[in-house]
Amino acid sequence: LVSRDFHPRHTVVKVGDVAIGEGKRPVVVAGPCAVEGEEQIVRTARAVKKYGADLLRGGAFKPRTGPHTFQGLREEGLKLLAIARRETGLPIVTEVMSPDTVGLVAEYADLLQVGARNMQNFELLKELGRIRKPVLLKRGMSATLEEFLAAAEYILAEGNGQVILCERGIRTFETATRNTLDLAVVPLIREMTHLPVMVDPSHATGKRSLVAPMAKAALVAGAHGVLVEVHPEPDKALSDGPQSLTFHGFEALMGEIRRLNEFL
Ligand code: PEP
Ligand code: MN
Repeated sequence: LVSRDFHPRHTVVKVGDVAIGEGKRPVVVAGPCAVEGEEQIVRTARAVKKYGADLLRGGAFKPRTGPHTFQGLREEGLKLLAIARRETGLPIVTEVMSPDTVGLVAEYADLLQVGARNMQNFELLKELGRIRKPVLLKRGMSATLEEFLAAAEYILAEGNGQVILCERGIRTFETATRNTLDLAVVPLIREMTHLPVMVDPSHATGKRSLVAPMAKAALVAGAHGVLVEVHPEPDKALSDGPQSLTFHGFEALMGEIRRLNEFL
């Protein structure tokens, strides 16, 4: 179902009024790794909206590597995202981690994210296939492209065709970056499938200074959008501060993307 042979026309995924896919201007998803409080998420939403973001991201359910770190505000975080949406009009993207919370997250989110660690949580994928909201599926950190597409297939097979694929870096021997951004999959995904593809240069690199160059490279490679982490005070962030852009950094990136868009 994900193959271009089966479905020659490109899929355009609509999230609120934002269209993601072939022939559309690349979209920018921006926001903090995690929702930490009302002021933090509303301030960030206003800033990224001002500089031209299309969608607001923010994790309420966080898949953290260790159990003693901030796990997210859960339903309270979803409520704060809804406040930020009301304040700015930006549709919201947030992660869903388990099949039993799909209903809850879908009540709030405009686009439901499946994180890298859950790319092969097949019960979650099946549940997402049964809802009528779009899904942003991130590539597992050790998943081959074939496994990534098979995961998307689970969602489509249950009847939900509104799926966006997201490359977010994979594990390699290299340790200088958090992950290795596998940019070649962007044109390859476009050759092989009809689904939109996005890139997350924040998790792919783990370093703020690398986010803008890799975001631009992703767009040149044909990504239909980029997802970047932005925080009002990255040094105080409860998760992923080192890879989060400041408001100023995000403003600069948006200027560069606008200039790049003239050539795409
Ligand atoms: C995130 O988007 O904050 C996140 C946890 O990403 P990933 O699943 O790609 O690690
Ligand atoms: Mn993060």
